[in-house]
Amino acid sequence: MAKRSIKRRGQQLVEDVNGMGRSVDLTVLQSLVTEMLLALGEKPGRNGLLKTPERVAKALAFMTQGYHRDIDHLLNGALFPIEYDEMVIVKDIDFFSMCEHHLLPFYGRVHVGYLPNKKVVGLSKIPRIVDVFARRLQVQERLTVQIAETLKSKLNAHGVGVVVEARHLCMMMRGVEKQNTLAVSSSMLGAFRSQPQTRLEFLKLIRRGSVGDSD
Ligand SMILES: [Zn+2]
Repeated sequence: MAKRSIKRRGQQLVEDVNGMGRSVDLTVLQSLVTEMLLALGEKPGRNGLLKTPERVAKALAFMTQGYHRDIDHLLNGALFPIEYDEMVIVKDIDFFSMCEHHLLPFYGRVHVGYLPNKKVVGLSKIPRIVDVFARRLQVQERLTVQIAETLKSKLNAHGVGVVVEARHLCMMMRGVEKQNTLAVSSSMLGAFRSQPQTRLEFLKLIRRGSVGDSD
């Protein structure tokens, strides 16, 4: 349950999105959304829009909650020493992010692989790391690099590969209006960069159909 407190200046309701002590000013967001509706020629007082500023403010706070998440806190207790030194792959991780140029969603899938160096991370943590960086205002390339570099440094891994496939509403709904364009970005670090064989193995494994799919 989100905590609410009163800020010193004025009577502004502030939402502490996840109890980590950093806040989103919902009151300011709400009044900005009202102004935006007016600027668009709308009537914020009409029935359907009455609660829209509040809804949009809360939705924006939710979709940018990654700013307030702490990776070390997230990984606390989830790193395990192990002798396993084969590639670990987590693929088809769904994500939703917001393009920082248009404040429109982009969404798709992330595939992650790494070569452990005496420790592994609990598999469920990888999608959560993806969310920490996806739930911000982003560009796809930076999202890709941030996931890769975080895994590389926190795991001290021999190598990390990250591939992101995404559709951008700013391309689909406006501008070039290309409905089926998939933007693909990748970041290869350590052995994934220096050893073509490792990189190829990763790319081959993430392309293979899911468990249960017929080839
Ligand atoms: Zn955009």
